[in-house]
Amino acid sequence: MSEVNIHIRRSLFKEDYVEKAISFLKKNVKGQVLVAFSGGKDSIVMYEIVKRSKIPFRLSHSITTIDPPEVLRFIKENYPECEFCKSKHSFWKMTLMSNPPLLGKRWCCTALKKKPSWKYPEKERILGIRREESSRRNNYPEINYFEKLGHTHYYPIIDWKEWQVWEFIEKNNLPYLSLYDDENFSRSGCIICPFNSFKINQINKEKWPGYYKIWEKIVYKWYLKRVEQGRTMVYPSAETFLQAWYNQEATKWYEKDQKERSLFGDLDLKKESRDA
Ligand code: SF4
Repeated sequence: MSEVNIHIRRSLFKEDYVEKAISFLKKNVKGQVLVAFSGGKDSIVMYEIVKRSKIPFRLSHSITTIDPPEVLRFIKENYPECEFCKSKHSFWKMTLMSNPPLLGKRWCCTALKKKPSWKYPEKERILGIRREESSRRNNYPEINYFEKLGHTHYYPIIDWKEWQVWEFIEKNNLPYLSLYDDENFSRSGCIICPFNSFKINQINKEKWPGYYKIWEKIVYKWYLKRVEQGRTMVYPSAETFLQAWYNQEATKWYEKDQKERSLFGDLDLKKESRDA
């Protein structure tokens, strides 16, 4: 295909994907919606699409207590209408009350991100999820219904590629997080996260050493507490647990898994989905 044809096809597609996202919302959303706003690049685009679709909305960010401070500053400066919600306890306190979140056994997305937003009356919610982000998200429908909560989630930019997100931001001169200008940071999520690779943890530790100091202190405290409670730990020390955690190799905390249970009652550690 010639350069000109590639350009024409790309331009046509470009117009198409923005219009498609707007008409998707206009066609499907019925009343006031809640827009879950992380402050990341996908959220910025999604906010603009929602605004252009002219549907009434509430903008909300869930404070996880392990957000990069740059993210909260960015939201406050550029999106003053954004509301903030927060769980009763911090990530640190919940880790002590329960267990450190593991890759396959997480409680934090539900407890810190989703649950605080359940206080809002809006049953229809918009999220900036994209299929390209993970193999699990690749199988997502454009509209998801969560029966237990009666919530319907809409994903208007689900098929967008990363280049489309950046193109839209640049073309519309939208403000974005300065963290993205640093080649080490491609995402704006929680500083401490079981999804972080060893390398990402090293980079984050250098940038936000205070968070890692607290994290390691909390893990030591949690480990001692569990030993005092008579648990048989899989890892012989807090240090070896932390090492395995940083390497994404920690799959359980105790030798006897039948005792594993979330202390938060309704949060099922094994079934947690990032997006409900
Ligand atoms: S992004 Fe990571 S650390 Fe943050 S709530 Fe979700 S799993 Fe937990």
